[in-house]
Amino acid sequence: MADYDLIIRNGTVATGSDVMNADVGITDGRIAALGHDLGTAADTIDATGKLVLPGGIDSHVHIAQPSGPDVVQTDGFESGTRSAVFGGNTTVIPFCLQERGQGLRQAIKDYHAKADGQCYTDYGFHLIVSDPTPTVLGQELPAAIGDGYSSFKVFMTYEGLALTDAEILEVMTVARGTGALVMVHAENYDIIRHLTARLESEGKIEPRYHATSRPIPAEREATHRACTLAEVADVPVVIVHVSNGEAIEEIQRARARGVKVLAETCPQYLVLTAKDLEGLNMEGAKYVCSPPPRDKQSQDACWTGIENGTFDFYSSDHSPFRFNDEKGKLLPKGRTSFRWVPNGIPGIETRLPILFSEGVMKKRIDLPHFVRITATNHAKAYGLYPRKGSIAIGADADIAIWDPTITRTIRHADLHDNNDYTPYEGIAVTGWPVTTMVRGTVIVRDGVLAAQKGVGSFLKRGKSAFVPD
Ligand code: MN
Ligand code: MN
Repeated sequence: MADYDLIIRNGTVATGSDVMNADVGITDGRIAALGHDLGTAADTIDATGKLVLPGGIDSHVHIAQPSGPDVVQTDGFESGTRSAVFGGNTTVIPFCLQERGQGLRQAIKDYHAKADGQCYTDYGFHLIVSDPTPTVLGQELPAAIGDGYSSFKVFMTYEGLALTDAEILEVMTVARGTGALVMVHAENYDIIRHLTARLESEGKIEPRYHATSRPIPAEREATHRACTLAEVADVPVVIVHVSNGEAIEEIQRARARGVKVLAETCPQYLVLTAKDLEGLNMEGAKYVCSPPPRDKQSQDACWTGIENGTFDFYSSDHSPFRFNDEKGKLLPKGRTSFRWVPNGIPGIETRLPILFSEGVMKKRIDLPHFVRITATNHAKAYGLYPRKGSIAIGADADIAIWDPTITRTIRHADLHDNNDYTPYEGIAVTGWPVTTMVRGTVIVRDGVLAAQKGVGSFLKRGKSAFVPD
């Protein structure tokens, strides 16, 4: 009888606080020991020269999300989580979208039907509240929070999703009463509607004008308003996908007033710019997402926000549509105006390698910082800690083993999603996860898929560590 099911030997282990040379002993899907000369194991992985990190938690992804008539998101839960696990992730938290007129209970049921039995990673759901009826606010939402859907997102923009300030306050008040965490998509709907109509009337309809129609002031104002609403409702708030320095300043100002604001940024704001939307023949559609990528100055501000700890989270906002597809970026209606181009970009597999290479290898952040903003903080904020997000005794053995010496150029052909492009094509990176395990089950071994879909389980999430008792 072996001492452990699996031992990872000779690696450099990093957590959100420490880096150590240690072997990791795993039994029954959990981390049972950290140390040296641990003994025998049924299976051994030699991690000499490699980094042993907590598996990434991508807490901002859209998978199989209804996206309007004639538009289809290309990843279901099988391909989405397969791509995630090849990118060093072990947990994803996609959004479960309540469509207007639909009950929350039904939305949750629909998402489980899509996800259960399909996943390579563990998964939970944030709820998108688009229709805060009295039944939703009074019964369904509190019940869902108790069932493990302990966070939800509200939108300040988008037809069919945007809530009024009064509605957002109602939703935040439910969060106040139930201990849930509210995430906000902060862009000013009326500014975007106004500019979109004006651009269209001037014949400015190409994908590049998507960026023009959603300028920094629209995000800055909405960020300020979201923080203010949270201040009034007396709840913590997560500002997702922050793209520029002016929005960051609003977050810092709110924090200085004592508002508990958590902030997230994404790879598109670190390595893409609005210039990428200028490609001819709809090529720019490949980069249409909201908020749009900005300019070099905004990129620098987001990097500074990562370096100085302003950002708690780094997520992908994976929202995949094929490019060469009439149900994707080449939706015929999209040629009549940028407003119809399916909004979102893929990035679940490339999220971690981009930050590892640009952040850790270039010494903008150290390994524990990388671990915090890619895993530990997500686990803490979204009610998964200490089970997830660290390498610690008793935690789930969710681990990504990285080879920091691999150099490669990102090519869509090498990725494992169901898309036909990546917006990060051609970016050279150093470091890539080679082996990933979920609760001790090796899913990818030396770059090869080693498990069947369905090994990932639904996670009933508890209360956020950032919500007061
Ligand atoms: Mn959003
Ligand atoms: Mn999103």
